[in-house]
Amino acid sequence: MEAAATITPAVLILLGPPGAGKGTQARMLEDEFGLVQLSTGDLLRAAVAAGTEAGKAAKAVMEAGELVGDEIVIAILRDRLAEPDCAKGVILDGFPRTTVQAQALDQLLSETGQKISAAISLEVDDAEMVTRISGRYTCSMCGEGYHDTFKVPVAEGKCDKCGHAEFTRRADDNAETVASRLAAYHEQTAPLISYYQDHGVLKGLNARGNIEEIAGNLKRIVSDAMN
Ligand code: AMP
Repeated sequence: MEAAATITPAVLILLGPPGAGKGTQARMLEDEFGLVQLSTGDLLRAAVAAGTEAGKAAKAVMEAGELVGDEIVIAILRDRLAEPDCAKGVILDGFPRTTVQAQALDQLLSETGQKISAAISLEVDDAEMVTRISGRYTCSMCGEGYHDTFKVPVAEGKCDKCGHAEFTRRADDNAETVASRLAAYHEQTAPLISYYQDHGVLKGLNARGNIEEIAGNLKRIVSDAMN
């Protein structure tokens, strides 16, 4: 671990379309820098599985590949950010996705004297995203990510990381829903690239190459942002 001690914990944002590798890279950053990954997609899927009011409201919207209402997502994020482990610093994966969410985040952070360390935009090509998403699945125990073509477990049917033998595919990882999710990204989330550019915290990352190379470049960006 090379990160120097900071007085205020780091707040990193990973921006990018579905399938860009935000989740994979966020997990790598957790291990490398001791930060906590906050994925609003994961939090919403947990709310759907638990049948909470927020989960009930979000379910159909998520299945259609559209964005869940700002109010619901902001409330979920605010509660999660208030948990003690977030004091170590966080990587926001999939949040904010609209300008309203970005402004709410600025407000939340200003209340606790924090600010955004970097908003990292993962640059990829749309055409590749459908292939990447359609083949992906995760270990149902530890969440390690796999892909039918690009990354299969070393021992067939067993997670490389924890040895578990059950895997899950997300209900919204299918070609039709991916098209809606990409459209939602371009219409509502891509404008955040200029939002963070204007705030002086934007960093671009070419996310088209292999995972290790991208991870190496990302580590350098994060190291700089945390110092
Ligand atoms: P993800 O796991 O980030 O791909 O998110 C899966 C789905 O959850 C998205 O397609 C949206 O329906 C919903 N979702 C996740 N994060 C947000 C957010 N910040 N704002 C609105 N909807 C979200």
